Amino acid sequence: MRNLLSKLPKIDIILKDTQFKNHNLLLLKKIAQNYLQALREQILKKDNQDIQKQLKELDYKKITQEIEQIYKTTFSSTIQPLINATGIVAQTNLGRSIFSPKIIKEITPLLCEYNNLEYDIAIGRRGERYGHIKNIICGILGCEDAFVVNNNAAAVLLIINTFAKNKEVIISRGELIEVGGNFRIPEVIISAGGILKEVGSTNKTHLNDYEEAICENSSLIIKVHQSNFKQTGFTAEVEVDKLIELAHKYNIIDYYDIGSGYLKGISNSIEPSLQQIASLKPSLASFSGDKLFGGPQAGIIFGKKTLIERLKKNHLLRALRVDKFSIFMLQATLKAYLQDDFEAIPTIAMLGAKETELHDKANKLLELLSPIKALKCNLISLNSKAGGGSLPDQDFPSCGIGIVHTSLKTQILNDKIRQKGLIARIKDDKILLDMRCLMSHHLIKIQQIFQEVS
Ligand SMILES: *Cc1c(COP(=O)(O)O)cnc(C)c1O
Repeated sequence: MRNLLSKLPKIDIILKDTQFKNHNLLLLKKIAQNYLQALREQILKKDNQDIQKQLKELDYKKITQEIEQIYKTTFSSTIQPLINATGIVAQTNLGRSIFSPKIIKEITPLLCEYNNLEYDIAIGRRGERYGHIKNIICGILGCEDAFVVNNNAAAVLLIINTFAKNKEVIISRGELIEVGGNFRIPEVIISAGGILKEVGSTNKTHLNDYEEAICENSSLIIKVHQSNFKQTGFTAEVEVDKLIELAHKYNIIDYYDIGSGYLKGISNSIEPSLQQIASLKPSLASFSGDKLFGGPQAGIIFGKKTLIERLKKNHLLRALRVDKFSIFMLQATLKAYLQDDFEAIPTIAMLGAKETELHDKANKLLELLSPIKALKCNLISLNSKAGGGSLPDQDFPSCGIGIVHTSLKTQILNDKIRQKGLIARIKDDKILLDMRCLMSHHLIKIQQIFQEVS
């Protein structure tokens, strides 16, 4: 063991090695130290014969080769573009809503120059970052006031903390939901300082359940959209207009966490649009910017001016503040909506894609894949999903290609294409490529990927 330990090279020798002469010394040193330390720990463990054997074969060359490998992967960018063939449009794991080159081009000058993000040019003094988008949102939604924070989770936190600190927040037991990534509505309400007042049951909540729970310490009735699941069977929930009425009657606040709101462009939606919700005049409502809205990460809040003024005075706001990139993106996305330019909003363009268009795309890809002898491909009907915790119950009829390989197992083939950046689904032992989220330049790339792995 001592022997092995003494075989490990000194860190100074590695740092002075000419093969590392173009490396950043601080990074190299850290990587080499961590690597050698891990080796030392393995040597001292000594109980595993196999590892001991491997360690005996370690020499200086091998050690430096491994350090070089770690250095390379640390240095290279780990984020890469992927081809989304899952048919899930706002896929949270794949970055949710993506942007169009058109909108990126529009905001690039703003990002590369100083700008009036918080500067009022007319009077030469500090301005407000929220003003740039407020008027467009109010115009589109017909609401009194609007406001934006970092994301919708931040909107929930800020609203509860501002209006319900040490006060009761009335919520249906059917809406104590988890959104994903450990975001649970009841926990957020408690973290924000609110007191949970659960009403009703998991499957049924009635208006009188809410009404009976209202007391002197009630501050707010919250309605939370069941974003990522659907209850069926013996169920009842109270519609938001009834809750707004009830809150008015008792002079408390109604707040609707819409989750994934959509503005327009989804003609067959089974859920109300943001405009329809706004027409009910909720005291406060909020939704995510990067789900079905198709914009940047943001939490968009709309409702009564007096309430939004109070949100702006909460000291927590600084920690939840929306950054300039999101404001620029949001403004450009809203403008695209004003002009019904859905091509500029990929999420909307993809969800609105016509079946004939998807069918044509599938035929083109089929043609590109047919020369690859090891593949058996056929055209199939599929159902795409909106994703990102939106419209869980709704299918978007789509078209795709099913693929099996003549010798490789489907799972193995899928691992290979995934490692080359093509994300697909497997069903009935076939690889499924859904056309909905594929752009025209992806088709030739997909052909290349299958040529390389087959
Ligand atoms: C997605 C979602 C959130 C969280 O929104 P983010 O923008 O991801 O922070 C909160 N509430 C509901 C109902 C949601 O669907």
